[in-house]
Amino acid sequence: MSGLSIENISMRFDLPNGTAVQALQDVSLHLKEGELMSVLGPSGCGKTTLLNIVAGFLAPTEGKIVMNNHTVAGPNAERGMVFQQGALFEWMDVRENVSFGPRMKGQTEAEWGQHVDHLLDVTGLGDFKDKAIYELSGGMQQRVALARCLANDPDVILMDEPLGALDALTREKMQGLVLKLWKETGKTIILITHSVEEALLLGERLLVMAPRPGRIHKEYRLPFAEMGV
Ligand code: ADP
Ligand code: ADP
Repeated sequence: MSGLSIENISMRFDLPNGTAVQALQDVSLHLKEGELMSVLGPSGCGKTTLLNIVAGFLAPTEGKIVMNNHTVAGPNAERGMVFQQGALFEWMDVRENVSFGPRMKGQTEAEWGQHVDHLLDVTGLGDFKDKAIYELSGGMQQRVALARCLANDPDVILMDEPLGALDALTREKMQGLVLKLWKETGKTIILITHSVEEALLLGERLLVMAPRPGRIHKEYRLPFAEMGV
């Protein structure tokens, strides 16, 4: 089966004092290639833990992550992450940040230049290529984070509250950008959010999680993202 399967994932954190936190209990779901799923749930229900397991940053206590028919363990270029903020390379300019992945793979500018410049244009960064990260507003920085993730051409993009730190107006613009990029690239996206409104607007599917232990409470199919509201 192509796409992303989260299979019977449980996660227990053993604490130094001998107690344990059951962060996730038997979470299973499948995302078809190109689906956009938003994830809502109270603080502490395991959203970030689940995303980190899908990304390969954390090994689950039980269960596995299967992508395009193979089990994945550890991070790789198939899965890209967009964090809430602060994960950019401050000492590089915008274009250097966005081209980081391809450059690390040993590609020459002749190979990555066109794709990277296209991404800079579609994310509205065309005029900011040479700016340092600290010169940019929060919204512009998140545009860089999105473009940098896409430059790696991952199959799945994992977003952990990518717009959570932005002011309302900027967030609204960025929601439109996420939808545009999703439609243009056809990537599979999992987006964690604290905003019910954002979850409804951006998700084709909406996963609601419940805490203690973190598990799937309910899943919905939504028409809004498809309609391009
Ligand atoms: P959410 O993203 O939904 O707020 P988290 O995934 O951050 O939830 O956390 C889920 C639960 O797991 C919480 O009770 C949290 O305290 C616990 N937890 C998360 N990471 C760790 C860790 N590294 N060590 C111990 N407990 C953790
Ligand atoms: P966005 O919603 O696109 O993140 P902001 O509210 O952050 O936008 O900024 C609005 C506009 O101001 C941007 O589209 C851009 O043209 C301009 N801008 C933002 N940051 C800078 C900057 N550091 N230097 C010059 N212009 C900027």
